Amino acid sequence: MHDLVFDSESLNNILENKPVSRQEVSDIYQKAIDSPNDLFSASQILRKKYKKNTVTFSKKAFFNIINLCKDTCSYCTYKAEPTETKLSLMSKQQILELLLLAKKYRCVEALFVTGEQPEQKYQEARDWLRENGFKTTVEYLIHASELALDTGLFPHTNAGNLNYEEMKELKKTNVSMGVMLENVSERLTERGMPHHLASSKRPKARLEILENSGKLDIPMTTGILVGIGETIDEIIDSIFAIKKLNDKYGNIQEVILQNFQPKQDTKMRNEPSADEKYFKIVVSLSRIIMPQMNIQIPPNLSPRSYQSFLSVGINDWGGISPLTPDFVNPEFSWPEINKVDENSKKAGFDLKCRFPIYPEYFSSISKELRDKMSVIENEDGFVKEEYWK
Ligand code: SF4
Repeated sequence: MHDLVFDSESLNNILENKPVSRQEVSDIYQKAIDSPNDLFSASQILRKKYKKNTVTFSKKAFFNIINLCKDTCSYCTYKAEPTETKLSLMSKQQILELLLLAKKYRCVEALFVTGEQPEQKYQEARDWLRENGFKTTVEYLIHASELALDTGLFPHTNAGNLNYEEMKELKKTNVSMGVMLENVSERLTERGMPHHLASSKRPKARLEILENSGKLDIPMTTGILVGIGETIDEIIDSIFAIKKLNDKYGNIQEVILQNFQPKQDTKMRNEPSADEKYFKIVVSLSRIIMPQMNIQIPPNLSPRSYQSFLSVGINDWGGISPLTPDFVNPEFSWPEINKVDENSKKAGFDLKCRFPIYPEYFSSISKELRDKMSVIENEDGFVKEEYWK
C-alpha cells in the first residue's frame, strides 16, 4: 500500500499498478474539475516512480522542408499557399547549409517537417522536386536524412500520412518518426469542425499510420492537440486509443500534449487558447492511463508556466531549437536551453538531452544508427553533457 491514500479508490488502485478503466477515468475527471489536487499528486507519484528526477529534451534544428499541403486544418498557420511569403521550399543546398549550422550549434536532432502530400495538389511542389532531382517528397526526405547522418545529426521525420513502404524506407535513416493523432473523434472532421478539410486527419487514416509504425517497430512520437473544440470524452478516447496501440506494438515512445493557441491567419483565430487548468488535467489523465509513457508538453506554448507542468506528470520538453523558429507556432519562440535547465533545477529536476529516440527504444534501430549515436552518447543513453551544454 502506498503512503499516500486518496479518497478515490481508483487513484489508490493506479498507484498499486492496477490499470484504470475508461469509466474510472471519466469519474476521476469529474472530481478533478472541482479539486484536481489528488489527480495531480497521483500522476506526480507515477512520474517519479517511472522517470525519477529526470526531465528530457531534444536539441534540434527544425527543417521546414516544404510547407505546401493538400489539406487545410482550421488551426494551422504552418501551411502556406504558393504566393505567401512564408512559403518554404528548401533546396538541397539550403538543407546542407542548415545542417552544418545545426552541427556548429551542437544540435542533435534534425526535425524534417513537410505539409501533407504537397506534390499531389501543387505544381510548385512538383517543380521543386524535379529541380532538386527527385520524384516524390519521400525520396527527398530520404536524401535529406542521409545528409543529416553524414553531418552527425539524427533525423526525425514528421511528414504526415506516409504509407507502409515509405515508412519502411525512412526507418533506415530515421531514429524515430512522428505523426500526431490530434484526436480520435470523427465529429471533429464534420462540416464546420477543424479537420473537415483535412482528409489526412481522419482518425481511421491516422490510426492506420500508427498501426503501420507498430508493425515496422518504428519508435514513434504521437500526440493530441488539446483545446480545438473537443469534448473531454473525445480526449479520453484519444488517450485510450494511443494506449491500445502501444499495448499491441510497444513502439509509441512518447505522447505530446499540445495546447491549442489561436493563430491570427487561421479560421480559428478568435477561439480561446486551451484553458491551463483543463490542459493540466489532461496531462495528468494521460499519466494515470499510461503510467510509464514519456509525456511531453512544448515549453514555448506555456511560456510563463511551463515548469509547473513538472508537477502534474510530464517528463519531457520535446525538441528545443537554439537556432530555428517553431514553424508550427511561429509566434512562440523557444526558451533558451540554459533557462529551461535552470527552471527544471529550481523545480527539483535534472535536465538531460536525449536523442530523438529514447533509450528504452534503442533496440528498435539498426547497428549503423546506434554506432553513429555512440560518438556523443553517455553511459545512460543520453547525449554527453559536454556536447550539448
Ligand atoms: S496541420 Fe498539417 S495537415 Fe493540417 S493544414 Fe497544417 S500542415 Fe496541413
